[in-house]
Amino acid sequence: MLKNFSPDRMLTTPFGITADQLRKMGKTTVLTDLDNTLLAWDQLDATDEIYNWFRVLEEAGIKVMIVSNNNEERVKRVAVATKIPYLAKAKKPLAASFQKALADLGSTPEETVMIGDQIMTDIFGGNRQKLTTIFVRPVKDTDGFATKFNRFMERIILKQLAKKSELKWEDSL
Ligand SMILES: [Mg+2]
Repeated sequence: MLKNFSPDRMLTTPFGITADQLRKMGKTTVLTDLDNTLLAWDQLDATDEIYNWFRVLEEAGIKVMIVSNNNEERVKRVAVATKIPYLAKAKKPLAASFQKALADLGSTPEETVMIGDQIMTDIFGGNRQKLTTIFVRPVKDTDGFATKFNRFMERIILKQLAKKSELKWEDSL
């Protein structure tokens, strides 16, 4: 049961992930959450750090898409500014948006990583689709209202995982 909630890796930040590291893992495709994964949930505008990371990955041939549960207006603003395709209102952890993202990009689950700051949506949803899941530290310590219950569940799960697994926070892949 716990297995579906367990990320494959835990990274302090996503921005150190390189195309070379992904290739060595057999990965061609990155699906990434937005809020508190790339950008503080209450910050409207994309940062140069996000823009530059996306460019480096894309120029090396890695496909990237933002998959966010937040609304169209919020997600589109960041996606347009960083020139990256996106799915808003994704309803993670449900399967549909993960499947749509892979279909749009022409990628298989085996070659895809899902990056996100929430166990209950990003990691659980990605694991159920057989993606490689990378849990990252939230950019900001607080969350929007909708996330509070998920964080409560997440704390319980992380405690269990800490007892059973070898997983630990790392600075790079
Ligand atoms: Mg998030």
